[in-house]
Amino acid sequence: MKDQNCIFCRISSGEIPTNTIYEDEKFRVILDAAPASKGHALILPKEHYADLYEIDTQLAGDAMMLAKKLAMHMTNVLQCDGFNLVQNNKEVAGQTVFHFHLHLIPRYQNMKNDDILNWSHEMFTEEEMKEICGRIKEGLY
Ligand code: 5GP
Ligand code: ZN
Repeated sequence: MKDQNCIFCRISSGEIPTNTIYEDEKFRVILDAAPASKGHALILPKEHYADLYEIDTQLAGDAMMLAKKLAMHMTNVLQCDGFNLVQNNKEVAGQTVFHFHLHLIPRYQNMKNDDILNWSHEMFTEEEMKEICGRIKEGLY
């Protein structure tokens, strides 16, 4: 399915040209237009899924396998020192384009980019941690 009102559908189909670093039958990988670092790229499925909740499980796995391949390659060619994979779901989590995408963010030792993923840390009591742990485990297996 494609959504004509979705910018990433129009980009992934090739209707809107953009800097593409990789393409196959399922994905197009593009450079982010407002990069957090040199080489910041986005893996876009060619089919429209709003987010991780909607995407087909197998395709989500394929996206991660592609991320592994690209991270290895990009680290070689860009000579970066580390790498973040980021994937936002829903506005509360920072998602701004509602077509599933996986951020590939090369990190460089000498670049001042500490604020890329700089979240604050919450504190929970040991009891709360046990309760959270139990709630997440329930029904998982
Ligand atoms: P989100 O915040 O939804 O996880 O990430 C959306 C990303 O898409 C942002 O990093 C933003 O810079 C990028 N982006 C938004 N519109 C365009 C576009 O038209 N072209 C490209 N190449 N990137 C875009
Ligand atoms: Zn779309």
